Amino acid sequence: MGKVFESEFHKGVIVAVVDKGDYQYQQLAPLFNEYGYGFVAPDQKLIFIDGDQSASTQKIVEAHEVGHIVFNHTGIVGPNDEAEADSWAILTLRKYGYSVEADKLTIEFRKRHGYSYNHAQNKRNKIKVLSTIFVNQIV
Ligand SMILES: [Zn+2]
Repeated sequence: MGKVFESEFHKGVIVAVVDKGDYQYQQLAPLFNEYGYGFVAPDQKLIFIDGDQSASTQKIVEAHEVGHIVFNHTGIVGPNDEAEADSWAILTLRKYGYSVEADKLTIEFRKRHGYSYNHAQNKRNKIKVLSTIFVNQIV
């Protein structure tokens, strides 16, 4: 049986980990294949994660999907939205002490987006991501 919990990364965001044994898994499996182990229903602030993945991968997926919610990425998600979600996830994983996962995603970043997380091209994203984290600390 999968588990349902509130994301430690953002209040009010619910994470549903769906395991292979769950009856919903058969229906969700094609979506996991298409979207890469996780996806978000932004209106419901609900994240579905493939429970068949390692705990470490699940944390990375959780942080990435919460990033989409924080940035209000709705409808068709563009390549820049993916880079923003990954940037937010790297900073957030590090902030919460998931340094192994943050390092893993930093390496993945180049493969996923064609430029390094630290590349100047990513500066605009970084500022946006950092400002969101600071704003979240105030409210
Ligand atoms: Zn995404």
